Formats: sequence, structure tokens, C-alpha cells
Amino acid sequence: VLWEAHQDTVALDGMTVDPLGGEVRDGRLYGRGACDVKGGIAAMLAAATALAEIPAARRATVWLAFTVNEECGFSGATDLARLWAADEGVARQAFEQCRGSVPWAELRRRRPAGAIVSEPTGLDVVVTHRGVVRWQCLAHGRAVHSSDPGSGANAVYAIAEAVGALRRYAGEVLARRPADPLCGGPTLCVTTIRGGRGPNTVPDLAQIDVDRRLGPHEDPSEAYADAVAFARQAVGDCDGCVLEHAPPWLASPGLEARNNREWAGDVQRVARRLGATGRIVGVPYGTNAARLAATGIPVVVFGPGSIRQAHTADEWIDLAELGQGARILLETARCVEPA
Ligand SMILES: [Zn+2]
Repeated sequence: VLWEAHQDTVALDGMTVDPLGGEVRDGRLYGRGACDVKGGIAAMLAAATALAEIPAARRATVWLAFTVNEECGFSGATDLARLWAADEGVARQAFEQCRGSVPWAELRRRRPAGAIVSEPTGLDVVVTHRGVVRWQCLAHGRAVHSSDPGSGANAVYAIAEAVGALRRYAGEVLARRPADPLCGGPTLCVTTIRGGRGPNTVPDLAQIDVDRRLGPHEDPSEAYADAVAFARQAVGDCDGCVLEHAPPWLASPGLEARNNREWAGDVQRVARRLGATGRIVGVPYGTNAARLAATGIPVVVFGPGSIRQAHTADEWIDLAELGQGARILLETARCVEPA
């Protein structure tokens, strides 16, 4: 069994509690990452410690993997997943790059029968989630003195056209597409805008960031191409400016509820037996699970804490729930047939 969690957190800025103090008050631990997802890591470490006391013949072998860079690109989980890639050449290359102490044969022989990716799911079992693709759109114009705007090409006007087109695409095209019953419909929004060089210059450059959330079955590159085609057609020629839709800098598919139902049922049974709700659910946010699922390993997302406390100014986790999460993890590893 593989237990995976990401070590990175969002930034410490703007927090109303000591981000790194780890203050415990009224059964809650406060700090950046308490909920997303160091609390989940703590539950995994506690469960692993208890598991080590059990003879190997009576429990699963557990791989612990704490990866980096989940929040901004899933790159750690992408590399981890390569170790168990279907293509043996890819796996071998990943193995040689990571220079760990585990022998190659052992790694292959102990390919995980199931994986649990920790995120704050409130001890529910997530079987599906949305994906994401992000890109930048840039308007290139021609700078001139603002006393004679007609002789230039105003990039801010062009980017405003693109913003309007993408807003219509989200509201009129995506909103009509069928929603996934567990994780909702596809969405798109413009998240940043920048442009201009000064108050007396016709701007020659303006740019936006676009965030498109995918249904679990959608392909990131098709979603990008569709939105860009709509924007190109809607904007047309924009008074001498050129609109450039840069290739996506982040593209991550969603998690499909396909081969993970049985594994999810195992985790659910244990969770319920130990007093958690353990509902089978889908969520709107992306996780490392999609990268691991690409190897064919059944993956669910499961952990203590609520996503509503993730990334907040007073991030916290309930310590009783963290303990409950640890007991559930330990029990799932005792139920799996030892290899
Ligand atoms: Zn997280």
C-alpha cells in the first residue's frame, strides 16, 4: 500500500495565527499546513509507527511518500508515479534518478495494490475529482504617446476583449455542459490581469491568467484548445494588436472513479467501523491522486481536516479527528493481504 502526502503548503502571508508556532488550543492545532496537509502526514507517521509493531506477515507493506510541489504543479507526485509506470524503461529511469536505498527488484515487486493520498477530506473517501489547466493570454500592441492614441495599438483594450470573450465562454458554453454527478461541472475564470507602462503611454503589453477546471473525464489539452478557439473567434482582429494564447504552464487531469471503487469500499468499511462518516464523494479541487492513478494503481484521497480550513488565515486541524484518521489508516493496512 502507498500512503502519499505533499509537504509543501501555501504562503505564510496574511495569517492571523502564528504560522509556524503550532499552538494547541481547545483541541485544535493552529498553523500553516496544519490542515493541508501536515496533519495528514502526522496521521500517516503515527499509523506507520504503530504498524511497525505488527509482524510483517500480518499486515501490508506500506510505502510512505511525502512529495514536493503539489500546490503549484504536482511535480513531486509526477516523479513518484514514474517509479511504477507501466513502461519499464520510464520506471527504470525514474528509479536511477532518485538514487534511493530501495533495490529495483523490491520496488517493482511491491507495486502498491492501493494508494491513499492525504488531503483534508473530513475522513470521507474521495474517488473522483476535477482536473485543471492554466495558461496566460497576452495582448501585444504598439506603444505611442497617449496624446495621440490613434497611432498606437492599445493592448489593454485587446486584453479586455479577451476577458469578455472568456467570461462569455464560461457563462454560455461551459455552464451548459453536463456536470459530473460527484464533482460538478466544468468552469473557467480569469484570475489575474496586468498591463500598461505608465499613465501617459498607450500600452503595448497586457496579460491575464486563465484557470479552467476540468471534469474528471476531460482532457486538459482539448479543454485549452476549445477555450482558445472560442476566444480567437469572438475577439477577431483587435485594432492592430496580436493576442497570444501561451501554451498551458499547468495541465493536470482529474481523478476518474474507474478502478478505485473496490479499494474505496475497503477504506470506507474501515472508516465507518471506526466511527467516521466515510462517505464516497467527489470534490472540485485537484490532488496528487490523478498522477498516481495514471499508473493504474487504484487511488483514493482520504485524510483528517476540512478543505474549508485549508489555505485560511487561521488554518487549524482538530486533533481528535487527526487521531481517528491515524487509526483508520493503520486498520486499512492490517486488512490488506500481505504480499
Ligand atoms: Zn493539499
